[in-house]
Amino acid sequence: MSLERKFFLGFIRIHILYHASKKEIYGVEMMDELKIHGYEVGPGTIYPILHSLEEDGFLTIREENVNGKIRKYYSITPNGIEILEKARLRIKELIDELMD
Ligand SMILES: [Zn+2]
Repeated sequence: MSLERKFFLGFIRIHILYHASKKEIYGVEMMDELKIHGYEVGPGTIYPILHSLEEDGFLTIREENVNGKIRKYYSITPNGIEILEKARLRIKELIDELMD
C-alpha cells in the first residue's frame, strides 16, 4: 500500500461507511466512487477494508448471485451508524481548526 493511501486510510473507511449508510454497496462500485474523490483504490485495498469493517461490526454482508457470480453487498450496522456520527463530529472539529 502506498504511503499516501496508508495515510488516508481513515478517510477511505469513512467514505465507505457514509455510502453504506445511504444504501447497500459492493466493492467495484465503491472503487469507482472513491476514484471520483481522488482515491486510486484497487481490489487489493478495498476488499480487506470492507472485510475489516465487517469484522469490526460496522458493516454486514449479504451475498447475491449476479449472473452466476456471487456478489457481496455491504450495509451499515447500528455500530457503524454510531461511529460514523462520531466521525462526523470529529471531522467538523478538524475542519474548524484546519480552515479557520
Ligand atoms: Zn463518496
